[in-house]
Amino acid sequence: MTTKPVLLIHGGAWAMPDQEIAAHERGIANALAAGYSLLEQGATAVDAVEAAVAVMEDDETFDAGRGSFLTQDGRVQMDALLMDGSNLRTGGVACVERLRNPIRAARLVLDKSPHVYFVGTGAERFARQHGMLLCENMDLVVRREQERLYKAQAAELAGLPDETFSGNLEAAIKLQSHDTVGAVALDQYGNISAGTSTGGTLNKAPGRVGDSSLIGCGCYADNLSAAVSLTGWGEPIMKLVLGKWAVDRVAAGATPAEAAQAAIDYLFGRLGGYGGIILLGPDGQVGLAHNTPRMAWGLQTPNGPQLGVTRNPG
Ligand code: ASP
Repeated sequence: MTTKPVLLIHGGAWAMPDQEIAAHERGIANALAAGYSLLEQGATAVDAVEAAVAVMEDDETFDAGRGSFLTQDGRVQMDALLMDGSNLRTGGVACVERLRNPIRAARLVLDKSPHVYFVGTGAERFARQHGMLLCENMDLVVRREQERLYKAQAAELAGLPDETFSGNLEAAIKLQSHDTVGAVALDQYGNISAGTSTGGTLNKAPGRVGDSSLIGCGCYADNLSAAVSLTGWGEPIMKLVLGKWAVDRVAAGATPAEAAQAAIDYLFGRLGGYGGIILLGPDGQVGLAHNTPRMAWGLQTPNGPQLGVTRNPG
C-alpha cells in the first residue's frame, strides 16, 4: 500500500508588509508545484524538499539564495540543511558565499559524504568537486537588500528606531528579518524529510551561523517522530534546540499541531523569541504555528494545494 504524499513549506515568518504578500504567495505556489509534482511521480521526500527549497532560493522574494539579507559588510552568506528521516542521513552547509542553491550542496553532502556538515570555502570546494558551479557573491546581492542594509546601519549609527517599525531597532530586527525558507515532505513510501535554507539575519556579523542549518535547531527529520523546519530569530531557537524539542513531543504523543504551538509558546515563554514552525508526522498530520504577525506557508496533499500568508492550514 502506498502512502498519500504531503508537502508543507514555509517562506518566512515576520511582520511582512501588505505589498509583499502577493510575491510570497507566488513563490510558495511555485515551490509547492515543483515539490509536489515530484512526489506524484514517485520521487522521495528528500527529492521533493530539495526541489521546493531550491525554487524559493531562486526567487529573490525570500531570504535564501539570491536576494538574501546582507552581512554587516554587504555580502550574502548562506546556510542550509537537508535531512532524510528514513535513515537520518543529513547534509549541511554554512557560511557559503558562492553557491546559488545551498540546499543542492546540502543534498550532495547528504548523498556523497561520510561527513554531515561543511562550512565556508570547504563547503564550496566540496560542492564544486561534485559538479556544482560557483558564482560570484555579487551575483547573489540585490539592490533591495543593499538599501535595507544601509537603512538598518544608518538607524543603528544614529541610535534611531527603524522607521518601518514602530518599536525600537532591536524589535524591528527581531520581527522584520525572517524570510528563511523550508519544507517538510512525506512520500508514497512512508518516509519523511526536512530542509531549511537561509541568508540569515539582516546586518549579521560575517561568520555568524543561525539555527536554520544546525541539526535539531532549525531543521530535523526522523521517521520515528516528525519532520520540522523553523524560521525566526535564530539565537533563541538554537539555545532551545527547538526543532528536536518539537519532534520529540510528537514522538511522545502530541499531534504535530499541538507540538508546533507548544514549541512557539516555549520559544517565547523561555527566551522571548519570535518565529514560525512547520511540522509533519509520518502519518501525514501537519502542524504550523507562529508568533510573528505573518507567516508564508503552503500545503499540498492529494486533495490539492492550500496556501496563505497569515492563516494557518485548516
Ligand atoms: N532563523 C534564521 C537565522 O537566524 C533567520 C530567519 O529565519 O529568517 O539565521
